[in-house]
Amino acid sequence: MGISNDSIDRIKSEVINCKLCNLCINRTNAVPGDGNPKANIMFIGEAPGRNEDEKGKPFVGMAGKILDEALAKVGLVRSRIYITNIVKCRPPSNRVPTEDERRVCKSYLEREISIVSPKIICILGRTAYQSLLGGGSILGNRGKFIQKDNRLYFITVHPAAIIYNNKLRNVLENDMQTLVMECRRLEIPI
Ligand code: URA
Ligand code: SF4
Repeated sequence: MGISNDSIDRIKSEVINCKLCNLCINRTNAVPGDGNPKANIMFIGEAPGRNEDEKGKPFVGMAGKILDEALAKVGLVRSRIYITNIVKCRPPSNRVPTEDERRVCKSYLEREISIVSPKIICILGRTAYQSLLGGGSILGNRGKFIQKDNRLYFITVHPAAIIYNNKLRNVLENDMQTLVMECRRLEIPI
């Protein structure tokens, strides 16, 4: 056991009541992370969209459905993974969260990572890539593993990108296959 009394439940209740940045003004619900707090794989997206804002849960709209389908193809289920976002409140009109909003919200994400302590962090799309690893071309780097500060990251496309470009569906599915194969190789139970 660690020395910290922090917990996912505690972060959840803090996020639900958070007013640390202006994204609290227009939200219906803040959207804390969800899933298995002992997961070996953590997925990190950008920010809640309309459906997530309405329900208070991450990836429950169209992007979530696409993600679930890709996960199902490799035998992954939501209840065994943990899924969260860079910022926990929906930006108006789904704009990309600003640097300031990300910076202010980041302590929640850092605490989630430290508590869940996932063996692999799967980055979904450009915003999470930029916030966590400094970014670069998603299409040039997706499907790759990156080791940084004692954590193993895996980069893939954002499932919402598939809504606009169906060719990326195969890319996401192939990447999920790569992720699962690496878990097997590293003997990480999923
Ligand atoms: N897109 C995201 O990045 N996160 C969600 O929770 C939903 C859509
Ligand atoms: Fe708080 Fe993050 Fe929501 Fe901003 S986006 S109000 S920092 S939970």
